[in-house]
Amino acid sequence: MKNTEMRKIPQMDSIINDPRLEQWAGKISRKLVTAAVRSAVEHSRKSIMDGGIYDESELYANIEKLCGRLYGKRIRPVINGTGVLLHTNMGRSPIMKEAWDDCEAVNTGYSSLELSLKTGKRGKRNGLIPFFINILTGAEGCAVVNNNAAAVYLTLNTFAAGKEVIVSRGEQVQIGGGFRVPEILALSGARLVEVGTTNITTVQDYLDAVTENTAMVLKVHRSNFAVRGFVSEPAIAELSAALPRGVILAVDQGSGVLNEKLPGEEQAALQIRDGADLITFSGDKVLGGPQAGIIAGKKNLIAAIDKNPLIRTMRPGKTIYSLLESTLLYRLNSTGGISRHAATVELAEDARAKCRKIKRGLSADKGNIIEDRICIGGGSTPDQYFDSWSLEIISEKRSAESILGLLREASPPVIAKIKDNSVLINPAVFTEEEQKHVRNVLSEIDGKL
Ligand SMILES: *Cc1c(COP(=O)(O)O)cnc(C)c1O
Repeated sequence: MKNTEMRKIPQMDSIINDPRLEQWAGKISRKLVTAAVRSAVEHSRKSIMDGGIYDESELYANIEKLCGRLYGKRIRPVINGTGVLLHTNMGRSPIMKEAWDDCEAVNTGYSSLELSLKTGKRGKRNGLIPFFINILTGAEGCAVVNNNAAAVYLTLNTFAAGKEVIVSRGEQVQIGGGFRVPEILALSGARLVEVGTTNITTVQDYLDAVTENTAMVLKVHRSNFAVRGFVSEPAIAELSAALPRGVILAVDQGSGVLNEKLPGEEQAALQIRDGADLITFSGDKVLGGPQAGIIAGKKNLIAAIDKNPLIRTMRPGKTIYSLLESTLLYRLNSTGGISRHAATVELAEDARAKCRKIKRGLSADKGNIIEDRICIGGGSTPDQYFDSWSLEIISEKRSAESILGLLREASPPVIAKIKDNSVLINPAVFTEEEQKHVRNVLSEIDGKL
């Protein structure tokens, strides 16, 4: 019985050449189609072994499904209508189109990444980045690594392996999945010395903990939660003035807010001015660049970091260096000179006009423009919201979850949110083109609402 069923499975070649699979020929290679066929045939064999029968339509359905997945399940563009500007699930900060276009030739061809065009000899990978970071923060130098977690780790490892690092109990935080300050600290080889309490830590707490083994005081920005009420911690200026020479004051600034004013965030420029020896921050949060970690601060300390052999294990490639340099250049050349995300929240209230545009896709009784709030998110400005406007989608027939599902089926998918049981689309970050797309998507689903 099993053998008879097995024999019904056609030869690989005849499946691959079946007209039903023709539509994939232009989309994915023959090699990938063959792999999908092999995997689906394997599946059919298994079900026959388990006592099933050969089912041709199931075999072809499985091949279709696999081919579809190979073709479509790459990282795809989506429209962010959540009102969370930096969304870890959606790749944090988009890279400026201008910066991306600028960097094309450097990335698709050879470049002077580490070549001095003056001498013809080996040059520095950093290019103009330290110069730009200096203008924006006042730091004397900087090093670039793959992300801020690496920046913090490398800073600790360079100066504090085998020594003590003092951290407030209020700053032993977890940021995102897996970045836990005490764990990173232990992995770097440093010994954690905890001071103060969850809500109050004083300068004296830090000073009392300093010993001859103290390498560093690390301050960590609570970038994804806020503490309120009876709360106090020393300002960087105070701490910097009080710490003995030889104890490095490092600040994990996190968000990359450099010189712009954003509630809940300390500007990197002020931290440097106030005496932080080193600060670390992400490239793809408020800074608006590619994923990177930047360590900025005193020249001699950056030189020591550059000499740590570990830096080689966290070194970004030309894509990151070129995009970061270009992003910073565009920002310094723009009027206002602040990051795009800071500019967006300043204009959050203007989202009303965009709501009107996208609302045109819906019948009059199915859309409602309402006051809403947006946030930056992605590990910055914790607990801070900015007034904005969103489009509420009203449906008699469908649940909020199923409307979100319909919007995700669009191409590109539209990612909306649920608030108080209704579906909201916040258009604060939409481009003209995205507004048109969302309006069209809404008119397509209008009949189903
Ligand atoms: C976001 C953040 C990190 C982690 O940065 P990645 O770039 O995601 O590695 C570390 N510390 C602080 C304070 C942060 O805000």
